[in-house]
Amino acid sequence: MSYCVNCGVELEKACKACPLCDTPVINPREKSMDNEIPAYPTNLSIPKSTNKPYLCFVLSLIILIPSLVLIILNTVFFGNPVLKYIIGGFVVAWVWFLFPLLWKKPIPAVTVFFDAFTLMAYFWFYRFCGDDTGWVYGIAFPTVICLWAIANLFLFWKRKPRSKSAISVAVLGAINVMTFVIEMTMSVFFLKKLQIVISLVMTACCVSLMIFFIVLEKSKRMKAWVQRKFFI
Ligand SMILES: [Zn+2]
Repeated sequence: MSYCVNCGVELEKACKACPLCDTPVINPREKSMDNEIPAYPTNLSIPKSTNKPYLCFVLSLIILIPSLVLIILNTVFFGNPVLKYIIGGFVVAWVWFLFPLLWKKPIPAVTVFFDAFTLMAYFWFYRFCGDDTGWVYGIAFPTVICLWAIANLFLFWKRKPRSKSAISVAVLGAINVMTFVIEMTMSVFFLKKLQIVISLVMTACCVSLMIFFIVLEKSKRMKAWVQRKFFI
């Protein structure tokens, strides 16, 4: 056991200098310590970041293989009319979740545009296949367009850094607007008249939560209490 002559800190066996004050450690009685393993690593190795295009390739294969098997089985043995929609769903999932991996730095607005575009193309594919009873233009298209518009508004607003409470309020507002859009299009499509019930219930829930987040943003005491209570 040795101690630093300068600051008195206890030293590890292989130490050549004090870790605290950098005073050289010279102990003539101790044998050469060149071969000893130091108590801590001398250089820090940082793991390489994930190879995103490679990850995209592997996950694409995972999606592609079952799709191909399904297509072959379907054309050879069964004539399952639903299958083309499942495969269409795979294409949408690929554009939504795997396509951004191919980009070095995905631009959110462009990603959102592609997401909305593929979703609309998918619904249009339904129409093209002749399974449409009017809901593609009546419900699906207006919903996707509204969702896309809200996503763009959100991205534009989020260019400046926003607090967690502000983001929560914005997300709640967006959810509420979307329930209105969905209920309005569905009631007009199915009932042939405008009927709003569920959205109003949603508004009551969303507004009370929004008030909670606004109060949280304003009151420092409450913020501290929530952070203590929920470990955030
Ligand atoms: Zn020292």
